[in-house]
Amino acid sequence: MAKQKVSTGSTTGKGGSTTVFEYAPAPESRSIVDISPSYGLFINGEFVDGAGTSFKTVNPATEEVLSEVAEASATDVDTAVKAARRAHSRVWSRMPGKERAKYLYRIARIMQERGRELAVLESIDNGKPIKESRDVDVPIAAAYFFYYAGWADKLEYSGYGTQSLGVAAQVIPWNFPLLMLSWKIAPALAAGNTVVLKPAETTPLTALLFAEICQQADLPPGVVNIITGAGETGRSLVEHDDVDKVAFTGSTDVGRAIARSVAGTNKKVTLELGGKAANIVFDDAPMDQAIEGIVNGIFFNQGHVCCAGSRLLVQESVADEVLERLKRRMSTLRVGDPLDKNTDVGAINSAEQLARIKELSAIGEEEGAGRWSPACDLPSNGFWFPPTLFTGVTQAHRIAREEIFGPVLSVLTFRTPSEAVEKANNTPYGLSAGVWTDKGSRILSMANQLRAGVVWANTFNKFDPTSPFGGYKESGYGREGGRHGLEAYLKGTH
Ligand code: NAD
Repeated sequence: MAKQKVSTGSTTGKGGSTTVFEYAPAPESRSIVDISPSYGLFINGEFVDGAGTSFKTVNPATEEVLSEVAEASATDVDTAVKAARRAHSRVWSRMPGKERAKYLYRIARIMQERGRELAVLESIDNGKPIKESRDVDVPIAAAYFFYYAGWADKLEYSGYGTQSLGVAAQVIPWNFPLLMLSWKIAPALAAGNTVVLKPAETTPLTALLFAEICQQADLPPGVVNIITGAGETGRSLVEHDDVDKVAFTGSTDVGRAIARSVAGTNKKVTLELGGKAANIVFDDAPMDQAIEGIVNGIFFNQGHVCCAGSRLLVQESVADEVLERLKRRMSTLRVGDPLDKNTDVGAINSAEQLARIKELSAIGEEEGAGRWSPACDLPSNGFWFPPTLFTGVTQAHRIAREEIFGPVLSVLTFRTPSEAVEKANNTPYGLSAGVWTDKGSRILSMANQLRAGVVWANTFNKFDPTSPFGGYKESGYGREGGRHGLEAYLKGTH
């Protein structure tokens, strides 16, 4: 096949000559997925028609309508919670841990076997590049099931008791639909709880495929229930009187509303909310790796990452060099078809999210920050935003304070480590941070001072099922992942 210019990047060689790269398209086939024109709700082990209306889910890269999905009403929510309650008291909480583990292992293995299907479907419904859904989302999602399968018969070693809570109401966002599902469902099931999970309204399809996987694994009916819908469905679920636990991942505003609604009840709550992470580069940092880490920190998943390194704090003495190298690297990012294996940056998940990114970026310019994006041709259909950076950003700028949740980086500078700590912590959020330096002692001292749930050193955006993840301040409370992640689903020892 003749080479076709998909997007171009250029690097300037030693003699000043410019090399332009051209890429042949390498699209992943979508024939592996079979998207039904309509979907019902997954309650008590089967797909049923909802009592409510329906809504469309679209491919954000093309605006093609993919399917019509049921919108669960309050009655449907009640049916799902009842199914989960029955399954908890009659089957799941009575089953020995080693038997529950077998189901979790089976689910994990089926996820691996159907990995390509899950990855293609995720990229179609969400807009993320196939290389990420294939190499990050799906393998890590399966890893969470493998990991928590191992805990199911060892709960007495968790330190949090062995008794399950009961029914967990779980609500997740659209940025990592399958991965967030596995972060929620795997520990809940391992600890003996049953779940009713609501995926985000723009990305319901991999959760519905996961429901099929539960059927394939012969999971007892009612242990996992998937109900689709928007905010109102989520609200009915978390406010339902008969749920014992609420696990929410999403925006800080909705998290606050949920915290208010469950206050005074006996429901246990974990909230994983927004972030505005600082990625701090010292002058002794390994520069090539730091540039890759900055790019990965903010352009991975189009910047739709709660822990994205959206504030680059760079030491003044190397700021010019970092910026020059960063711009050069950004010029080589390939933006386009999420199913193309070459693509680095895919589509923005929805028109609403695109409007928000555009609005905050326009405000950044109005406030006087310098805006820069590499030349890149964006597709005419779908929702797209170029990789963008803002220079001359100060703490007072809204782009430095508010979560943009898109491929937009704010660059600030600092002179001393204490100034870096002060600037990094000057945010209502506290989810994650990155530190780039050659000095181990500085890493430890920074990690101790940064008010962030996760601090990555000389790397960024690394996720592992054995490691707890969660925030401080307005980034929420509770931890997901690792032994700590079991605390949220067990009654505790007192
Ligand atoms: P969102 O809060 O608008 O929606 C999240 C989910 O909550 C969706 O399923 C939505 O339908 C549902 N929802 C909306 N209103 C509700 C209500 N009143 N009651 C119950 N459920 C309701 O967030 P979003 O725009 O989908 O996701 C982006 C946000 O999620 C960002 O702020 C991001 O930082 C955050 N996030 C955090 C983490 C984390 O681990 N801390 C991970 C991923 C995303």
